[in-house]
Amino acid sequence: MSDFAQTVKQQADIVKVIEGYIRLRKAGAQNYSGLCPFHKEKSPSFSVHAVRQFYHCFGCQASGDVFSFVVKIENVPFPEAVRIVAQKCGIPLPKREFSSPEQAAESRQRAKLLELHEAATAFFEEQLRGPEGAVAREYLAGRGLTPEGIKTFRIGWAPDSFNGLRDRLSGMADDETLRASGLFSSKEQGDGTLGHIYDRFRKRVMFPIANESGRVIAFTGRTLETGEKAGPKYFNSPETPLYSKSLVLFNLDKARTAIRQAEFALLVEGQMDCISVYLRGIQNVIATSGTAFTEPQVALLRRHTGNVVVNFDPDTAGGNAAEKSIALLTEEGFTIKIVTLDGGLDPDRFIRERGVEAYVAAIRGARSQADYLIERARAAFPGASPEQKVKAMNYLLPHIRRMPEKLARDQFAGDAAQKLGIDSAVLREELRQAALKRRDRIETRASAMTEVERVLMRALAITDPEGESSRRLAVEAVGRQTAWFEHLGTFAALQALAGRKASDPMDVVEDPAQRALVAEVLLAETKPPEENEVASAIQELEERATVVRLRDLRVFIAEAERRGDFAELAVLTQQKLELDRALRGLQQLKDRV
Ligand SMILES: [Zn+2]
Repeated sequence: MSDFAQTVKQQADIVKVIEGYIRLRKAGAQNYSGLCPFHKEKSPSFSVHAVRQFYHCFGCQASGDVFSFVVKIENVPFPEAVRIVAQKCGIPLPKREFSSPEQAAESRQRAKLLELHEAATAFFEEQLRGPEGAVAREYLAGRGLTPEGIKTFRIGWAPDSFNGLRDRLSGMADDETLRASGLFSSKEQGDGTLGHIYDRFRKRVMFPIANESGRVIAFTGRTLETGEKAGPKYFNSPETPLYSKSLVLFNLDKARTAIRQAEFALLVEGQMDCISVYLRGIQNVIATSGTAFTEPQVALLRRHTGNVVVNFDPDTAGGNAAEKSIALLTEEGFTIKIVTLDGGLDPDRFIRERGVEAYVAAIRGARSQADYLIERARAAFPGASPEQKVKAMNYLLPHIRRMPEKLARDQFAGDAAQKLGIDSAVLREELRQAALKRRDRIETRASAMTEVERVLMRALAITDPEGESSRRLAVEAVGRQTAWFEHLGTFAALQALAGRKASDPMDVVEDPAQRALVAEVLLAETKPPEENEVASAIQELEERATVVRLRDLRVFIAEAERRGDFAELAVLTQQKLELDRALRGLQQLKDRV
């Protein structure tokens, strides 16, 4: 952000600016709410934080600062939004800031960045063919990819080098442009300046991400190693002037003609699944990348079709994201069918084991969303007792309410009543009511957040230097005792917040679902937590982790006894004694408070 934009942001009042477009009412000490201008709704799920200067919609996940609001609502590029906000706040514009040379420079930069990505793609492709790429070629062959398939998707290999790509591209652009490409990293120096750039992607299989016109704008790198040193399995380009994760659907460039012909899009979860399905001739396939759909992505897809066949299990690890995607698509009026593959296989494995004909048959046999959900309700709450029926119905009601068409809601409710064998007049009436009224917002999973998580999140989001000691306490705990935090639903958000430097808390959490949790906590906060609050939250987690570890140990001890492994038994018993003692200590500490 330019200095001028920074100044404007500091002086602008986001509440006033947004009030220029929609009606807001005060909803808390520091926040306002209103009807979201970015999706249709009848009860407000759009919030604005007056102090932290962000907005967030719990219905459609729209989120950002004053500029992003204006960009979205006025449909203008960023520099124009800065100008609009400056004018609204009576801040004089510096002459040269928005003159046309500036805009010319911007479009020159975009062209340059596209050129760099093209050259990088060619470089990675070349490396894949070279001697260093053998391991990657072997991996890809193992996944059933032919050389033609590799060529189609322009898959490559980033060598184990800090300067391979840099040396290749350094003649093409200045340092600033290279940095802006997202292809390189650099370390912050002691004096706050950035050091030399080096290759961001190393020792990874490289999957290019293209925009709708097929130009490469970013990459996903997959490591072939396991263990601590390998880093995350998948590693993406950061947000750049070319690439914004929430605006891209993987493979839409190649799939769009086929989507129009088939009159539906097949939606799979991972890029590898997508590639594999596409190369077997099912070309109307696109992928989310493990995160929930955003509204711009839905809008992008709607230009091509209103029908989606979803092939991922909404119940698995990425389930939350999958479920949210389906909910958003439903709310936006898409017709959705769901494929479940035998044996819980993913599309890639299914095709390799059963063949492409079996997969096509599975897609043809996709069930309507209603049938699928009713079946799930019956599986989750089996039996014919009234209690089970109520539970099954409660599970279905929110799904029914979410459908925008009354006809579809009626149909769904009728099917549910029939298939669940609901004969009670009361339950039937509830179903009828659900069909009558459409629910306006997707519920956030607030209930899944514990008080401990809320305290930690608020501590990590502290920006006031006075609360620095609370913040540091939380940062250190997240960094050093990862095991205590890993099982939390907010772990990704906590980690991102702990790693933020001077940036705004709302800017560092990328995943929309996680960001919604952060927004919810920040909108509800009155004051940042004190040090002792943070300390006892951490202690609570330590205690829980200890209890879990003790439970594991008891299992290991029983096993060692069965095997007659006395050496192991002695070690485990000693560990258990120590943990028992530690747990008692923690509990005593709590009693004293
Ligand atoms: Zn919204």
